[in-house]
Amino acid sequence: MSYEVTERNKVKRVPQRAHYDKETLFQILDAGFLCHVGFVVDGQPFVIPTIYGREENKIYLHGATTSRMIANLKKGIPVSLTVTHVDGLVLARSAFHHSMNYRSAVVFGTAREVEDDQKEQALFVVSENIMKGRWDEVRKPNQKELKATTVLSVEIDQASSKIRTGPPKDETEDYELDIWAGVVPLNVVAQSPIDDNDLKDGLSPSKIITRYSI
Ligand SMILES: Cc1cc2nc3c(=O)[nH]c(=O)nc-3n(C[C@H](O)[C@H](O)[C@H](O)COP(=O)(O)OP(=O)(O)OC[C@H]3O[C@@H](n4cnc5c(N)ncnc54)[C@H](O)[C@@H]3O)c2cc1C
Repeated sequence: MSYEVTERNKVKRVPQRAHYDKETLFQILDAGFLCHVGFVVDGQPFVIPTIYGREENKIYLHGATTSRMIANLKKGIPVSLTVTHVDGLVLARSAFHHSMNYRSAVVFGTAREVEDDQKEQALFVVSENIMKGRWDEVRKPNQKELKATTVLSVEIDQASSKIRTGPPKDETEDYELDIWAGVVPLNVVAQSPIDDNDLKDGLSPSKIITRYSI
C-alpha cells in the first residue's frame, strides 16, 4: 500500500531515494520516538520537537492541554511532521559531494483529540514506542494526570520517505586525488542506567532498561 503522490509529498531532488509505501514509512517511524511537528498559526510557522507513537496509520502525540501545539492542532489545522535518523557522515573527496546517510520521513495529516476512554491506550502506544515494557512496570496515570494531558491522533493522509545509503559519489577525476573518502557510521547508543538519587534501597533496573537499545 502506498500513499498518493502529489506536489505536496513528491520528492524532487534525487527522486530515486524516495519511497511512498506504508511499509517503508512505518519502519522509519517505528525506529524513532522523536518527531518535529510543523503547523502554522496566524501566518507564523512553528516546528516543535515532540514524542510520538504509531498505531496503524495514526500517529499519537500528547502534551499539556495548554501547550500552543496541542491547543492549535486539536482545532484540526493541517499538520506536517518529520522523523530523521542519521546513519552516517558521507565524506567525499570534494566538499561539494559530502553528504549523509539517512532515513527520513515527512507526514501530512490532520489531528483530532483522542476521546477520554481511548486516552490511556494511546498513551500506552507512545510509551511502548519509547521503551517497550516500561508501561507495565510503572504506576499508571490517575484521573487528574489524564485530565491534564491531551492526546492527539494524526491520521496520515499523505507521506514520503527518503533513504540514502552507501559510499560517497565523487566526480570521476576526483577518485585520483590523495584524499580519504568513505563513511563514518553513526548510531544512537544507550549508556548504562544511572540510579535516581532518591532511589529506595534494594532496587535495580529491569532487563528492559539494562538491555535498552534504540
Ligand atoms: C539528515 C539530512 C540532511 C540533509 N541535508 C540537506 C542539506 O543540507 N541541503 C539540502 O538541500 N537538502 C538536505 N537534505 C535533503 C532534504 O531533506 C530534501 O530532500 C531536499 O531539500 C530536497 O527537497 P526537494 O526539493 O526534492 O523537495 P521539496 O520540494 O522540499 O519537498 C517536497 C516534498 O518531498 C518530500 N521530502 C522532501 N525531502 C524529504 C526527506 N528528506 N524525507 C522525506 N520526504 C521528503 C516531502 O513530502 C516534501 O513535502 C537532507 C536530508 C536529511 C535527511
